[in-house]
Amino acid sequence: MKNFFRVFSLFLVISVLLSCASNPYAPTNRMHKKQAKVLTKQLRQFPPEQTGNGITLPYGEDWVGTTNFNLRKPNFVVIHHTAQESVEQTLKTFTLPRTQVSAHYVIGKDGTIYNMLNDYYRGWHGGAGKWGNNTDLNSSSIGIELDNNGKEEFSKPQIESLIELLKVLKEKHKLPDANFIGHSDIAPSRKVDPNPNFPWEKLAGEGYGLWYDEAVAIPEIAGDSIISEIPTIVEEGIIPADESEIIAKTETTADFTMDVSVEIALRIIGYDTSDMESAIKAFKLHFIQKDINAVLSDEELKILDNLYKKYL
Ligand SMILES: [Zn+2]
Repeated sequence: MKNFFRVFSLFLVISVLLSCASNPYAPTNRMHKKQAKVLTKQLRQFPPEQTGNGITLPYGEDWVGTTNFNLRKPNFVVIHHTAQESVEQTLKTFTLPRTQVSAHYVIGKDGTIYNMLNDYYRGWHGGAGKWGNNTDLNSSSIGIELDNNGKEEFSKPQIESLIELLKVLKEKHKLPDANFIGHSDIAPSRKVDPNPNFPWEKLAGEGYGLWYDEAVAIPEIAGDSIISEIPTIVEEGIIPADESEIIAKTETTADFTMDVSVEIALRIIGYDTSDMESAIKAFKLHFIQKDINAVLSDEELKILDNLYKKYL
């Protein structure tokens, strides 16, 4: 019996060594572990540093640590498209220190999920962004990147895996329906992901994001796609891409009026309205998904009117 355990242990050690040797990401996984160790050390520091910014705070003589705490939890999910050519390219991008970009999860077109970062760590996927008064979405969100070149449809297995993942995350972190948003929502003047093919309505139907009532929906017009107008903008730090804006039209046709201004309605939903043109385009990219210009028609205003009340 003793010999069996020796042989078994040896087999286990060899298996682990072989699997490490065959994993092309073994060197960057070592960097990942090293970084996690540095952060763990920061968390374990007790008593904490006494000074900061040159100010000495009047701390008590004895350090008293509470016995009741756990880790902070993420409260949002931010969904992206990678605007890259393959999932391998994205995995490579997120393991190159010079790119300074990452996400907690990457989902391939075949539905494979790559969990690149623990939910409790701060990923670098949002960049400068704002949602409501939250100005540090990287600190409060989980980033999910979908392998997509920026213009194509999202595959069925990819969306199925995304929904399974969202189910797990929603339950684990007790995330409210409204807090499943897109990168373009938090960074309207910089980002256009996920692209207008993203099934926000389907997701909202399952409890991931909000949607407007059927009664105000605009009837479908066959063949009305604007996907060719959407520029490709890759994530921060990656090779510069075409930064051209979504085409803006200037005419206005709206007669419908809301109880609040368009700006206030957009702000209630969460949009940064410091650049109104970008805020309207971002709203339309998420909730209208066609004719993504800075003009709101009567039908679109009715949708905005219906939606902002759901966020109150
Ligand atoms: Zn993004």
